[in-house]
Amino acid sequence: MTGTGRSPKGGSKRDGAGVKPAPPSRASGEKAKGTATRIAIIICGRYGACGGGKCLRALRERKGGFARYPAGESVEVVGYAQCGGCPGGNVEGVLPEFKRNGAQVVHLATGLVVGYPPCPHLRKFKTYIETVHGLPVVVGTHPIPSTYMDAHRRLPFWKDARMEEMAGPLMEEARSVTDDYC
Ligand code: SF4
Repeated sequence: MTGTGRSPKGGSKRDGAGVKPAPPSRASGEKAKGTATRIAIIICGRYGACGGGKCLRALRERKGGFARYPAGESVEVVGYAQCGGCPGGNVEGVLPEFKRNGAQVVHLATGLVVGYPPCPHLRKFKTYIETVHGLPVVVGTHPIPSTYMDAHRRLPFWKDARMEEMAGPLMEEARSVTDDYC
């Protein structure tokens, strides 16, 4: 699966998720000029039956966690998996396959950031993937729907989780966009 967006947006400014992807080495599949960035997506097992519609739409539109990729550059989805259900054992299981397929970035889907409750292991997944597998992790895929955003902002445990440190760009999305993803 590949996608290109319509409106150009600088990727670097949207990197506020606390993720600063170190350029992968050539050996691990560094993006050569003019080639697609290869990404893999992990979704929450609670939404394991999800067809990925919002994520793929956001990739196409360069919204949410995908706003970091310039509109004119191709992004190829080389992996898509669910975590396997709490506590997420499949995260460990799918990483070697993602890497064999040339993944350069792993996106933890927006369904880990919101939902009841949000994923309690989100930080650990990010740290694990970045530390053990050396792949940068972006927290977020599609924009947070307004209904979820409004509800979560009222939840003290969401505030305690300091999601903005990991998923900052998702919090900054325009209301018109989050309304459109309800
Ligand atoms: S809450 Fe976290 S560990 Fe549990 S199913 Fe969702 S992503 Fe997996």
